Amino acid sequence: MEMYIDPHLHAVSRTTDDYEAMRKAGVVAIIEPAFWLGQPRTEVGSFKDYFSTLVGWERFRAKQFGIVHYCTIGLNSKEANNEALAEEVMELLPLYATKEGVVAIGEIGYDDQTAAEDKYYRLQLELAKEVELPVLIHTPHRDKKKGTTRSMDVSEEHGLPPHMVIVDHNNEETVKEVLDRGYWAAFTIYPHTKMGSDRMVEIVKKYGPERIIVDSAADWGISDPLAVPKTAALMRKHGIPEEHIRMTCYQNALTAYSQSGQMEESDWLNPEPIDQRLKHAGNSVLRGGQAPRVEGPSDAVEN
Ligand SMILES: [Zn+2]
Repeated sequence: MEMYIDPHLHAVSRTTDDYEAMRKAGVVAIIEPAFWLGQPRTEVGSFKDYFSTLVGWERFRAKQFGIVHYCTIGLNSKEANNEALAEEVMELLPLYATKEGVVAIGEIGYDDQTAAEDKYYRLQLELAKEVELPVLIHTPHRDKKKGTTRSMDVSEEHGLPPHMVIVDHNNEETVKEVLDRGYWAAFTIYPHTKMGSDRMVEIVKKYGPERIIVDSAADWGISDPLAVPKTAALMRKHGIPEEHIRMTCYQNALTAYSQSGQMEESDWLNPEPIDQRLKHAGNSVLRGGQAPRVEGPSDAVEN
């Protein structure tokens, strides 16, 4: 059974069915970047509770379905534009960035490329250096080429080494520069869009597997939590070597984010057994009368 890592997935907006399907398809670990929620938050307390969910309940919930959950902590670029609130969020970040299972500062960077976005992006690059974590960059969907170049320029201005920076949401226009400059180049595979699995296959054929990372960025929008295993299957069908599939759909994400000191292969190779009778702060994933799934260590890597 192949193992996959989905290093960009917003699990808080997905269902237990998704977790079950992901595990069945071979996803052993996910990384959930802190992002916005589809509408802007109005109070700093909403950020605080969201960050607590990422390091607490969601990490617990994933484990109940046999998936190891990590997260990144950061102020996203859209909400950086509310400066009064952004100031308060910045004060929270160091508290959460150093918690167990936090593998990067992110996703940060530019959305509309405003002055406020630039300010909080820079402050968070400094934070990443301070807490010695990698950075996950969200590149803008509009004016992508320019925004991607600028993200890397600014990161270098602040002295971050490219090997500590994962640049996400790449496409054919950005990939060459990102790789040439020594960064990790991540690709978000959205169903029915420009960056689908077919194009990902072509990119791996053309550029090879070095420093290329595949993710789903599945969230509350039209997206697919199985994008990584499905893309791997398509690569296999197109004759891409097994080692290249392993690198782009598993190993590169592990190598990049294990630089945090918070993520290692033994986390899922020697997992604690699944036990849905367990509770987190008094709450479990079970609803009245449901039979808990309880597995010994030997069944933990199944299928
Ligand atoms: Zn995201």
